[in-house]
Amino acid sequence: MDSSIVPAAALTVTSLVNNLVSSVKNARELSKQSSDSELKEQIADIYDAIVDVKARVLDLDTENRSLREQLAQKASVKHDPNTKGFYKEGEIDPLCPKCFQSPTHDVVYLRDEGDQSGYCVVCRTAHSYLHRRV
Ligand SMILES: [Zn+2]
Repeated sequence: MDSSIVPAAALTVTSLVNNLVSSVKNARELSKQSSDSELKEQIADIYDAIVDVKARVLDLDTENRSLREQLAQKASVKHDPNTKGFYKEGEIDPLCPKCFQSPTHDVVYLRDEGDQSGYCVVCRTAHSYLHRRV
């Protein structure tokens, strides 16, 4: 196998789009030497469209990274059936169940209010809980 050929799957979507942008940019530069004005216009339109696609791809890549981080964070949080609380793995401080069960699975520690109750400063909700025994 030729080692100079990078499998497409190994390239990030960002580098694929960057390669595409530079190919079309080269084609646009070459077309400037042509007397075919329709060809020049078509290539310029393709270049503009690809630049728009690149911006969208970068947005989606950022969003995808953020969602992966949220998933990883969610995976490290466990529900304790004894205390009915949510805890990060290996920790005893309870998380806000309301924030964690929201669609974005926010990890927010409860402020200890004594008497086995905690207050979430994000959703401004008081919760009762039992400290987990580790
Ligand atoms: Zn909360």
